[in-house]
Amino acid sequence: MTQELTPDAVKRAPRRKKPSTSVFDVVNPATGEQVASVPDMSAADVDALAARLREAQPAWEALGPAERAKYLLRWLDWIVDHKDHLLGLVHREAGKSWGDASIELMVCVEVINYYAKHGEEFLAEETRRPHGPASLTKKLRILRRPYPLVGVITPWNYPLAMPMMDVPGALMAGAAVLTKPSEVTPVAWAEAVRAWNEEIGAPPVLGCATGQGETGRAVVDAVDMVQFTGSTATGRRIGIRAAERLIPASLELGGKDAMIVLDDAELTRTVRGAIWGGLFNAGQSCVAVERVYVEDRIYDDFLARLTAEVSSLRVGHDGQGDFTAEYGAMATETQIEIVEAQVADAVAKGARVVTGGRRTGEGLFYLPTVLVDVDHTMSCMTEETFGPLLPVMRVADEAEAVRLANDSPYGLAGSVWTSSDERARRVGAALETGGVNINNAMTNVFQFPLPMGGWKHSGLGHRFGGANGVRKYCRQQAFVTERVDLKNEIHWYPYTPRKGAVTEMALRLTGMHDWRRRLGRRAR
Ligand code: NAD
Repeated sequence: MTQELTPDAVKRAPRRKKPSTSVFDVVNPATGEQVASVPDMSAADVDALAARLREAQPAWEALGPAERAKYLLRWLDWIVDHKDHLLGLVHREAGKSWGDASIELMVCVEVINYYAKHGEEFLAEETRRPHGPASLTKKLRILRRPYPLVGVITPWNYPLAMPMMDVPGALMAGAAVLTKPSEVTPVAWAEAVRAWNEEIGAPPVLGCATGQGETGRAVVDAVDMVQFTGSTATGRRIGIRAAERLIPASLELGGKDAMIVLDDAELTRTVRGAIWGGLFNAGQSCVAVERVYVEDRIYDDFLARLTAEVSSLRVGHDGQGDFTAEYGAMATETQIEIVEAQVADAVAKGARVVTGGRRTGEGLFYLPTVLVDVDHTMSCMTEETFGPLLPVMRVADEAEAVRLANDSPYGLAGSVWTSSDERARRVGAALETGGVNINNAMTNVFQFPLPMGGWKHSGLGHRFGGANGVRKYCRQQAFVTERVDLKNEIHWYPYTPRKGAVTEMALRLTGMHDWRRRLGRRAR
């Protein structure tokens, strides 16, 4: 069944700016079925939407964090009450298994609750103790004021969860938010934004600009701060444009996460962790396990178990609510071609496919795949796959594992599997990544009190987590108040020799660290 979307953006655009009439189709990659027809918004559409959001923002900020939190919770209620409808859209537009789609609801619940609960505390005014005698009469405070309009641009892998990781923090900060979901999967998010604007009585401070890369470009040009999640190539382009516009850009980019399996790891959990970490969502996660390094002593055992369990995964696009498949389709033909090219490159250089390694079915399905005899001359070990490959490499020891794990331009996250706390700490702390998981994979992303962000080419800044997940959408205002009403200050005009001498004496007495300088004596 297809549904026509009429984003509020287009409906409420001012009359003098004609909304774009062009639309594009969103297609279920598992079945080829059309899911929706969505407006392809022009730069003029984006500007009109941005203007409307800006108009609504001051009143939203003035509400204060406690009132804003109430709207976020009301939105969450609507999302949970309509979960089958929303997750159904996710399931179809991304071709996921129902189980993979369902996890997106967890992100909505956790992120909204976290920021609704802590937003007020994170935004609270801070006082600071004055430093130096000249400042003793001052009261020092830090106020946090939002960027009026924040842009949130997201990729296709989690249609609902991706924007949901950013938007609650920005709304809590008091910003208006202009979102741009991926052109591959815009439907569920557009529906969530429609609900904000039409179903829960919230102020119109959340907008959704549907369209291609050009629409995203227009968003970057319309906002005061941009939060981007997506490929490193697009992130770099956005970073450059943001620098030209002198607006901040927070960038969450690609990854090539390594899993290090030490020889004292508990193998049942480790194998299951590798499978979930590498193959959840058909491997299309920024923090997916993309390469596995296993110590020699347990390599054969690990590989045998991994191969058996990967081969037994149920592949398919199960029905809504069915939970009869673990593993669904990939989102785009381009993505499946990247996987095919990496497998072909690896095999040509001597790797072996031990399970999977080909397409299956009618839609965009690629079997979950384990590769062995791999090394760092192969693209599957060095370039982002964003697909269902688990290349497994034998290593002699910890040191070799760490060296290979860090041999990457990316630094998003990584994992270490061991039963020793000491080895976990040593090896984990040696990883050049923004996140480290011990005996788990990808789980750092779901620890909302912790910062989530990539190092090296995986990003700039932190995406969300903790106080920074709200504060990053604010400008700090240094607020200085005089406690004492003096007629004049000692360093104000007019300058006189006496004021100069008194100032120097005060500086010496309070600022010097030895008596000779305090008393103004010269060194011999
Ligand atoms: P992409 O970079 O092609 O597109 C992401 C978004 O940017 C889309 O909405 C797109 O329309 C928009 N866009 C494209 N060109 C633009 C421009 N010039 N200006 C502004 N916006 C523009 O990424 P993708 O293919 O949708 O997603 C896959 C990539 O996302 C992978 O590299 C993956 O690692 C990365 N990703 C990273 C994280 C993370 O948290 N680090 C999470 C998920 C995905």
